[in-house]
Amino acid sequence: MSATIMHVEDNPSNQMLIRDLLHFRGYRVVEVMDGGEALAAAERERPDIILMDVQLPGLSGLEAARQIKERDDLRHIPIVAVTSFALSGDEKKAFAVGCSAYITKPYNSRDLVKLIEALLPPPHTNGQDSATRP
Ligand code: MN
Repeated sequence: MSATIMHVEDNPSNQMLIRDLLHFRGYRVVEVMDGGEALAAAERERPDIILMDVQLPGLSGLEAARQIKERDDLRHIPIVAVTSFALSGDEKKAFAVGCSAYITKPYNSRDLVKLIEALLPPPHTNGQDSATRP
């Protein structure tokens, strides 16, 4: 089964760009446009990774990430913060709320895909292998 990626982004053209890129790679994409809906969507969809735009109307992406990381059943999900400015300090804030990585706009799609692949949980190979895992 292919991995599910939740994309929290308020800009429709960015959303479309990522959707096309990830669909092409075979990922399932769940889209959320509002930081306030991110927690409920994560709970419902159980994504393998979350791409979180930092600048969202209403609840910021960092606040939404913090809410998700406060949940015992959701905090294992890696969150990639998508920041707009390299010097804004959002990177430090992103790590402080528990994000696993960040990527700064404008980024190239190759870097984003590499980052996603690095953060995805390893695929189950066979029963023997998974029996040795804790
Ligand atoms: Mn935005």
